[in-house]
Amino acid sequence: MAVLKVYNSLTRQKEVFTPIGAPYVGMYVCGPTVSGESHLGHARPFITFDVVFRYLQHLGYKVRYVRNITDAGHFEEEGREAEDKIATKAVLEKLEPMELVQKYTNMFHWAMQQFNNLPPSIEPTATGHIVEQIEMIKPIIADGYAYEANGSVYFDVEKYNQSYPYGELSGRKIEDLIANTRALDGQEEKRAPLDFALWKKAGASHIMKWSSPWGVGFPGWHLECSAMSTKYLGETFDIHGGGMDLKFPHHECEIAQGCSVTGKAPVNYWMHGNMLTLNGKKMSKSTGNSLLPSELFSGNTPLLSKGFDPMVVRFFMMQAHYRSTLDFTSEALSAAEKGFLRLFEAEKLIGELVPNNHSSVNVTEIIEKYYAAMDDDFNAPVLVAHLFDTVKIIHNIKEGIVTITQDDLSKLHSAFTAFIYDVLGLNHITSAASDERLMGVMDLVLELRKTAREGQDWGTSDKIRDGLAKAGVQVKDGKEGSTWK
Ligand code: ZN
Repeated sequence: MAVLKVYNSLTRQKEVFTPIGAPYVGMYVCGPTVSGESHLGHARPFITFDVVFRYLQHLGYKVRYVRNITDAGHFEEEGREAEDKIATKAVLEKLEPMELVQKYTNMFHWAMQQFNNLPPSIEPTATGHIVEQIEMIKPIIADGYAYEANGSVYFDVEKYNQSYPYGELSGRKIEDLIANTRALDGQEEKRAPLDFALWKKAGASHIMKWSSPWGVGFPGWHLECSAMSTKYLGETFDIHGGGMDLKFPHHECEIAQGCSVTGKAPVNYWMHGNMLTLNGKKMSKSTGNSLLPSELFSGNTPLLSKGFDPMVVRFFMMQAHYRSTLDFTSEALSAAEKGFLRLFEAEKLIGELVPNNHSSVNVTEIIEKYYAAMDDDFNAPVLVAHLFDTVKIIHNIKEGIVTITQDDLSKLHSAFTAFIYDVLGLNHITSAASDERLMGVMDLVLELRKTAREGQDWGTSDKIRDGLAKAGVQVKDGKEGSTWK
């Protein structure tokens, strides 16, 4: 079998994947901040890493997949000091912070299930690991890479950079970073603008806070991921994943925290998934150019002509490599839907094929191509292309253009379905979604019948009603128009 290669964001090249302790693999992926319903752009990396998780397992690895829930913490955004998102939103929605966190965690899990993402092996929360975060700060201070100031603790980036290179992952130079970083208001206590908070002092009005050796406060977001990945995967583990937008500063800070505690790099392979754009523009809640999973499935949004099944959306995402951007449009999704249906039609057909005593197709070669695609940095779109080549072959076998033996047919059948279901994580469209489609079709049919009746075209009107009756749909004409069941 060929060798799995992974594109490592740190070295900017594809490398042979060699786990620290095969067959075990440790993978950490930054999870959602549960202060609101995450839009579709946030879902893409989770689908990407679900495919990574699935393929590693398909290859026989025993993967411990850790994906956290950020339910507390201090955030810093570009150019401004961000508030505690959970606390702010809890006040806004008049909920207990933990009530808010539970609400949006449930919503996130629902969306992940809709997309058929497997649950991670461990899903730790930031609030459940305050002790681990405090314990991680202590050696960083002891080694002189962090300092306490007015009840908060900051990581000393320039000091760290004297021993370890800072900015390696994102390809940034510390001199440029220093030159381009403005001092933020209210952060005079930091020694330098680049320094980031490991622990933040909480004001009297702050609702989510904990006791620490530095006083009452709450942990920094970057620290959360370092503390939890170390706890469950060790000081150095195999894969760390996340969206491209997390590379800097979040992942850069995770590397700095890890190195400063253990003296060694925390992660061997850094993987980053690219962004999803919507109608050619960045997906952003503030500009209105964003879609929630619920809007996508129901079609209840001016951005789409209709709703789409989560499996169609997942299939659509498989048609671009995870490191490429992908543009989401109604037209592209409709095209993906046609392809999806064609794939599953063939998946049904392959089970009904009649074998021959001679094979004119090379099944071994076909299956090797499936593996070669995924071994090449999880190249799902190339795999999809190979699966469609198989779709053609399936039809050709059906029509007697090519032949296949029973043995080859069972090999092809099991590989074809394994790559569709187990590796890509696709599944048949659920009945609820097909009901939604039926509703759309019925709206159209009744509209056409209404037009016929208005034009006193009774022949067409009756033909539609009788045709529907034959298909098991009863139409009732009432004062408010026609209904069906
Ligand atoms: Zn993280």
